[in-house]
Amino acid sequence: GESVTFSQLSKVFQNGTAALDRLDLTIEEGEFITFLGPSGCGKSTALRMAAGLEEPSMGGVKVFDRSPEETIQNTNDIAFVFQEPNLLPWRKVLDNVILPLELRGVPKKEAREEAARVLDMVGLKKYMKVYPRELSGGMKMRVSIARALAAKPKLLLMDEPFAALDEMTRQRLQLELLEIWEKEKTTILFVTHNVFEAVYLSTTIAVMSAGPGRLSSVINVDLPRP
Ligand code: ADP
Ligand code: ADP
Repeated sequence: GESVTFSQLSKVFQNGTAALDRLDLTIEEGEFITFLGPSGCGKSTALRMAAGLEEPSMGGVKVFDRSPEETIQNTNDIAFVFQEPNLLPWRKVLDNVILPLELRGVPKKEAREEAARVLDMVGLKKYMKVYPRELSGGMKMRVSIARALAAKPKLLLMDEPFAALDEMTRQRLQLELLEIWEKEKTTILFVTHNVFEAVYLSTTIAVMSAGPGRLSSVINVDLPRP
């Protein structure tokens, strides 16, 4: 029931760019899968279609046995971390992180505590009461990651979330992510063009060839977890 299935998923944009070519892949519940491939091979596009943010040109992606319409309406248990932090500028950092919890009906006090906890985890406890514009780019990304983690989604979609971070922060957040994944059994779809990151984090690597992206191989990573 809780798997994610890509079936012949293809995308050709309006301008004729073929971004993804017949992707067939099933991701089981609790799997940590990484889409690995060169820039422009359609990784982001695949992820966006999984979230219902982009229409497939052909084929489709099924999330938890839901129809595409249901996926778009039922986003409470799906969280997305984009390459851009996408914070709401008129809400303070804490209120940005609280938002998805509020939408899910988590009581205010509990939502505040959870949001504060994850903000502490990403090293931003001191910045809870400031507006996003006061933060650096890397700090905004950490807020965006905290917001996704606080929501405790069943499916977490992450598009190069660590690319803009310094090495120390990256390593810390990678470990936190693995911890959360093990604890919550979250299904994670992760995008990177970094081979080391893919091997380090995921249980499965879907290797994609240069655009129009095709799945070239699926590798099961069987290494001791850090
Ligand atoms: P990746 O995430 O692997 O870097 P993307 O999914 O972002 O690749 O892009 C795949 C291809 O589709 C690229 O050639 C990119 O330029 C193109 N592309 C992405 N979004 C659009 C769009 N909205 N309109 C036209 N072309 C696009
Ligand atoms: P990042 O690597 O997260 O992009 P920067 O190199 O821009 O961070 O900033 C380095 C440090 O400067 C941050 O970790 C933070 O402690 C501090 N800093 C950045 N912006 C602000 C701000 N608006 N107010 C206070 N401190 C800040």
